[in-house]
Amino acid sequence: MKYIVPCLLCLLLVSNCGQSDFAQRKAIDPANIDASVSPGDDFYQFANGTWLKKNPVPDDYSRYGSFEELREKNLKDLRTVMENAAKNENPVKGSNIQKIGDFYSSGMNTGKIEQNSLTPIKPYLDRIEAINSLNDIQNMIALLHKMNITPLFDFFAEQDFKNSEMNIGWFYQGGLGLPDRDYYTDTSPQSDEIRKEYKTHLQRMFQLLGDSEELAKANAETVMKIETRLAKSSMTLVEQRNPKLIYNPMSLQDFQRMAVQYNWVGYLNQMGVNPYGILNIAQPKFFKEISVMVRQIPVNDWKTYLRWNLVNETAAYLSADFENANFDFYGKFLSGTLELQPRWKRVLNTTSQSLGEAVGQIYVEKYFPSEAKNRALDLVYNLQHAYAERIKNLDWMSDVTKEKALEKLDAFRVKIGYPEKWLDYSDLIINRDSYVNNILNANAFEVQRTLKKINKPVDITEWYMSPQTVNAYYNPGVNEIVFPAAILQPPFFNFKADDPVNYGAIGAVIGHEMTHGFDDQGRQYDKNGNLNDWWTKADEEKFNERTKLVIEQADNYTVLDTFKINGKLTLGENIADLGGLTIAYAALQIAMQENPAKPEIDGFTPEQRFYLSWAQVWRTNIRRENQLLRLKTDVHSPAKYRTNGPVSNFPEFHKAFNVSEGQKLYRNIDEIAKIW
Ligand SMILES: [Zn+2]
Repeated sequence: MKYIVPCLLCLLLVSNCGQSDFAQRKAIDPANIDASVSPGDDFYQFANGTWLKKNPVPDDYSRYGSFEELREKNLKDLRTVMENAAKNENPVKGSNIQKIGDFYSSGMNTGKIEQNSLTPIKPYLDRIEAINSLNDIQNMIALLHKMNITPLFDFFAEQDFKNSEMNIGWFYQGGLGLPDRDYYTDTSPQSDEIRKEYKTHLQRMFQLLGDSEELAKANAETVMKIETRLAKSSMTLVEQRNPKLIYNPMSLQDFQRMAVQYNWVGYLNQMGVNPYGILNIAQPKFFKEISVMVRQIPVNDWKTYLRWNLVNETAAYLSADFENANFDFYGKFLSGTLELQPRWKRVLNTTSQSLGEAVGQIYVEKYFPSEAKNRALDLVYNLQHAYAERIKNLDWMSDVTKEKALEKLDAFRVKIGYPEKWLDYSDLIINRDSYVNNILNANAFEVQRTLKKINKPVDITEWYMSPQTVNAYYNPGVNEIVFPAAILQPPFFNFKADDPVNYGAIGAVIGHEMTHGFDDQGRQYDKNGNLNDWWTKADEEKFNERTKLVIEQADNYTVLDTFKINGKLTLGENIADLGGLTIAYAALQIAMQENPAKPEIDGFTPEQRFYLSWAQVWRTNIRRENQLLRLKTDVHSPAKYRTNGPVSNFPEFHKAFNVSEGQKLYRNIDEIAKIW
């Protein structure tokens, strides 16, 4: 876990499919448009309607759009890399190629996986079975945490919010099998049904572990009871967006006094972390509750809960009976996906996640042209320049706050493509014996690497996404914006397209990341990444007044039946979309003064191409189940509203498409949300 803002899409449930050849395509293809819809009523549908009709969600997806198309292209690229590595009979032992080849091969060897069945995790199941004291329970929790299996809570290295040059140990709420605490507390019929289905799933998994039907049913109740208690003392997602609420630094002694019945000293010792540094307890109430729970809940119930955690986090990599049961609940029921992805894609994605930078290194050598980096840097510079002009001209901000904002903008660190130094995987052992053990080894390697950072200075060269990730992020603690190689491709970034198209896509994405430094969360950090108020009281009030309108606008969008967007949950992303598009448009105007764009391509003006390009990035078909899941858990608004929401606030958009009063995307000047 890392406190960054992963910007474009929440990667909760990644999936892929479909085929495409981006290079052959028109940057903006009129064939994708649905001319029966007026752009002033539903710009998203106008821009993408025909594409949406022609590209229904494939069976092995829960949603399908531009991101998935691009991920699909990356999968094809990476498949060659993986298959060649797997075929290599004499790789240098311990080399990255050997590890990639063995990892991928172990995942593709279904004969062995079926034959092994539960054997690879049997030693851990046996250890849980042998537990007979509270002390044993706590030791087992630490042992599982070392493999990134996380019952009860999470522990990781993260910057000290008020001393951004140092990493400290963070304790964070966790331990739930459903996607969020609200799933346990919400009283709607829909949530009732999900809990009922979840209990059936728990029972099925316990039966697969060998429990009788009756025992499995009882065990499901036990897990549900423990998780419900954890959920009730957990912060909501909206609360967690407030950095001040989750920053509660204290010494180990104070933590131990606060949550007295859990042995935190023992825990840190087992994790190999020096116990003398400052710790951050993100949710004190949650950890107090854990401390009470460990005494109140019988050891046998904890054993049941630990068995569930172990099997839940390994099921996707075990034999088909476990994998299918896991998919039936999380993939089918919760997300609406109809079938599992082809095996090679699943294994490829897992390999790519477990060996992120080893795979990334080969990926950029083969597929990332160096000119992409330079052109992206030029764009960033132009956006930064346009942003500075906007800040200087803001009519609502005082000169003192403007000066600080400009300093922060100037201090942005920019990372493009791939890290300047690669992670060293020498200490990680990967072989062809067991897929799930390879995953657990890679997890353990990553946990060790992370925990070593605690009480040490922050390494500002580190990346928190691999180069092959189609996404981008803003990291408030370092005040940096980061764009992995994989997103610098069409439809985001297109060498062959003209400026309006690129500014409407990657330009707006860069502007989006920059705006995270000035959204309701990011604005609380200074240019050095410290949580430190640099706003005057009056400016803060004016900012909050403006964000209220953004919240209201989002709250008013009904997405499905009666289900609406949560304006507070999505506030940061909505501010970033609004700001990103504003800045990109301003930067485009500057760029076009030097390099005038063609007045018309396929009948579209430069301004129209800019907005169409933005809409194209968001074209997405999504299944109902996934949409409902995301309305509860995703900090991003649904794709349609990421398109229509921001553009409805731009008089420039209204002008470009002749949007007039009475149309749905028209707003009077006093209804327009404008922050940056
Ligand atoms: Zn974002």
